[in-house]
Amino acid sequence: MRYLVTAGPTREFIDDVRFLSNASSGRMGCALARAAKDAGGRVTLVYGAIAGAPPECDRLVPVTSAEEMRNAVIEHAARADAIIMAAAVADYRPAERTPGKIKKSADELVLRLARTPDILAELGRQKGGRILVGFALEAENARENALQKLREKDLDLIVVNSPAAMGADRASVELLFASGESEELADFPKSEIAARIIRAVETLKVNPQGSTDGPSRTADPGS
Ligand code: C5P
Repeated sequence: MRYLVTAGPTREFIDDVRFLSNASSGRMGCALARAAKDAGGRVTLVYGAIAGAPPECDRLVPVTSAEEMRNAVIEHAARADAIIMAAAVADYRPAERTPGKIKKSADELVLRLARTPDILAELGRQKGGRILVGFALEAENARENALQKLREKDLDLIVVNSPAAMGADRASVELLFASGESEELADFPKSEIAARIIRAVETLKVNPQGSTDGPSRTADPGS
């Protein structure tokens, strides 16, 4: 299997020294790249400002902004069997980037923001036979919003997590499959969650319509 995995936050520069970003560490995406390698896959990792060094992969593509991540992902997507978008892509960027450093003057400074490209939505529109996995970080109505994203972006699987997962080694997530199946992984190390996601992707590749691992169920830590 050829995997394209994204990890970490993007940075959207306001001027040459300041940027907008988020608290993602990239741990989940890096764990997914590692798990895909462990499963014998060929892995391209496109990563933003992750904490620490990236794992060993077949191709490493460092990027900074959402725009750069989009270009790198689209460039490598055609050669992937499965794409896992674990990156915390900024939804907005400053409408313009000021060269140099904005001087401090008035008491208030208003920043105008523009939407960044929705990479996953673009991948969903040109899906081909690829398996597409997205993440949804939701503070409210997590399940409903994630299911809506799954359908809108033509995903095979969406991983629902909460803001508490950001930067942590463990997480509680729910896997929602396009088939309607779901699986809850409560308080698991990210490495185990990653291994489970890779197993699910491999099963989906062999049997796109079919069951991923049996009926909906809730797993316990350590099971
Ligand atoms: O819609 P939302 O931003 O919550 O979707 C999250 C999912 O979409 C993640 O898989 C993330 O990597 C991806 N994403 C993207 N492009 C964006 C924003 C998010 O591909 N501009």
